[in-house]
Amino acid sequence: MSHLNQSVSHLAGVGAQTLSRLEKLGIRVIQDLIFHLPIRYEDRTRIYPIGRLSPGMTVLICGKVEFIDILPRARKSLMCRISDNTGFINLKFFHFSANQHNALKPGTLISCFAEVRQGFAGLEMIHPDYRIITNSDAEVIQACLTPVYPLTEGLSQTILRKVVKQALSFWNNEPALLIDWIPPSTLKKYAYPSLSEAIKTLHAPDDSVSVVALQNGSVSALKRLAFEELLAHHLSLQISRNKVKAWQSPVFNAARSKEIAEQFLQTLPFKLTGAQQRVIAEIEADCGLEHPMMRLVQGDVGSGKTIVSAYAALLALVAGYQVAVMAPTELLAEQHSRSFSNWFKGFQTKIVFLTGQLKGNARKAVLQDLADGSAGIVVGTHALFQDSVKFHRLGLVIIDEQHRFGVHQRMALREKGQQGKTRPHQLVMTATPIPRTLAMLQYSDLDISIIDELPPGRKPIVTSVIPADRRSEVIDRIGGWVAKKRQVYWVCTLIEESEVLQCEAAEKTVGYLMSALPKIRISLLHGRMKSKDKDIVMQAFKNHQIDLLVATTVIEVGVDVPNAGLMVIENPERLGLSQLHQLRGRVGRGDNDSYCLLMYQSPLSDTARQRLGILRDSNDGFIIAEKDLELRGPGDVMGTRQTGAIHFKIADLARDADLLDNIQQTSKHIIIHSPEAIQPLCDRWLGGFSDYAEV
Ligand code: ADP
Ligand code: MG
Repeated sequence: MSHLNQSVSHLAGVGAQTLSRLEKLGIRVIQDLIFHLPIRYEDRTRIYPIGRLSPGMTVLICGKVEFIDILPRARKSLMCRISDNTGFINLKFFHFSANQHNALKPGTLISCFAEVRQGFAGLEMIHPDYRIITNSDAEVIQACLTPVYPLTEGLSQTILRKVVKQALSFWNNEPALLIDWIPPSTLKKYAYPSLSEAIKTLHAPDDSVSVVALQNGSVSALKRLAFEELLAHHLSLQISRNKVKAWQSPVFNAARSKEIAEQFLQTLPFKLTGAQQRVIAEIEADCGLEHPMMRLVQGDVGSGKTIVSAYAALLALVAGYQVAVMAPTELLAEQHSRSFSNWFKGFQTKIVFLTGQLKGNARKAVLQDLADGSAGIVVGTHALFQDSVKFHRLGLVIIDEQHRFGVHQRMALREKGQQGKTRPHQLVMTATPIPRTLAMLQYSDLDISIIDELPPGRKPIVTSVIPADRRSEVIDRIGGWVAKKRQVYWVCTLIEESEVLQCEAAEKTVGYLMSALPKIRISLLHGRMKSKDKDIVMQAFKNHQIDLLVATTVIEVGVDVPNAGLMVIENPERLGLSQLHQLRGRVGRGDNDSYCLLMYQSPLSDTARQRLGILRDSNDGFIIAEKDLELRGPGDVMGTRQTGAIHFKIADLARDADLLDNIQQTSKHIIIHSPEAIQPLCDRWLGGFSDYAEV
């Protein structure tokens, strides 16, 4: 074992408590510390003249205390004025000790580091990091920028800086321990520094590197490491993709199912769009090979992905295999179960339903049906993949709204349903449009099909952005809409993650709407309801026994009620654009006009206003996702609550997107010429998540 793979507990000052805190940051071995890179820097390399300060700067200054006083306001504070020969600034402390008061006697020379703000009596620093200078001010000047590391609760910058320093010197003693896996030709081509140089620069940038350049990512050391990190992620997916090629899977012969497939399509109340037909052909081709299909179908909300997956299910059934359909929520699973039952009415196939809610004998019966093969299709939630669920002959796994599950979960599912050497085909579907840059890192282990056409007759949803103080107009509009025999969604959002609070808010809204619209049939749908009750409400809404459905964001995915053409979204500023687009996709399903009212709480920040504007101006999920990525960090595009979203150590997709083409090339090069680099690169950058690379 090399030094770098030793536990961090070998370092001085790392006791049990620090050890567990470091673990929370994904730091277990010494190498992890070397790759725990700063998020920003503080510049203490020079002393700034006080007279040239302006608000917003975070700098080091030196000055003599002119006077010090305790201000007897509502909140007692210690105020101290210091000056150099260019100007003065006030320091403020809201927490202070008598010692502090005594030590800062007039005439004392001190250094301070903090952000400069505009105060009532001129510029000020609040709670600066200060030191009393005894000899000369040279003692406070640092040789390089001070790194600021990502922290977790209970861990201080000081501790982290200390342990990182130790890790770096460990490595300094034996530099050969850290191998630079990037091919020299690549380093040369992009003028990247070596690995060791890059790491040293980022942990301790010398005076040739500016803070600004570090922040905007133009420093080549940073570029190089971001490149390496993205490369590691890409490689892990590529490897997983190659691994699949070695697996066996059942062959579904499309030609043999032709007749049945045609009958199947004839029973549908619509004709498939060109895009749907194209994607179906791609699926047929995949399933005709003896290696598993790994295909992602991307299509905007309402583009008709479900029927495409049902067609794939048909291929499996005809070939004598079982199909598992997984949805992220019970509600959606129930809806799919109904759709599939409907579409497969004419077939001798038993369709069963399995979620975590199913218990006792009912559950036993379903498990039995799957194990002995009497059920051909099972629709359910992730409960489908519990160990107790055994299949007789699973041939196809369909995962809907896959973005809700995350990369690692998807990888785990891939191992499921394995029988001897054969594995089921996999079809995953998502309505969350992913910009190409992200797709490369999230989905490059999959083949991608895009349904880029909506069924005919769909009209764009007319979206308006209005302040909540115009609520009464909105209510009038709902009244008029319902009078026309149309239905309405009212979506409540809350910033809290807590479902309890969300439900309370929704209940309040229902009460309010009931008194404002006494003649209208209003019901509530929220995540804490029993699935049977949700089902009853949803079914009633579908049957138009309910006019106005007040819901939390549980209706985000997949729910389909064409007569509901008006949606009010309260506090849309709290949600990501892609999520809003998904929600809005619940309307605009019929061939009537449909509307979405984004009812925001004033005041709205500039960015929030711009974001809602994007949604108002576009109905195209791809454009919305691209613009969202430009306006915010990529984490938001993916939805921060999403499980399995990738967390990068240093790369920032919004900033480093330009690297991706080169990464694809380099990845190919490494797979062919130096495959031995793959596992170490994945270990280095993906940590505990790299297991699935299994090279
Ligand atoms: P999504 O892609 O969002 O999952 P769905 O599969 O739920 O979309 O389809 C949305 C609606 O469009 C459903 O009512 C479905 O039956 C209908 N649909 C699907 N394909 C077509 C088509 N080619 N023509 C007309 N309606 C269609
Ligand atoms: Mg869907």
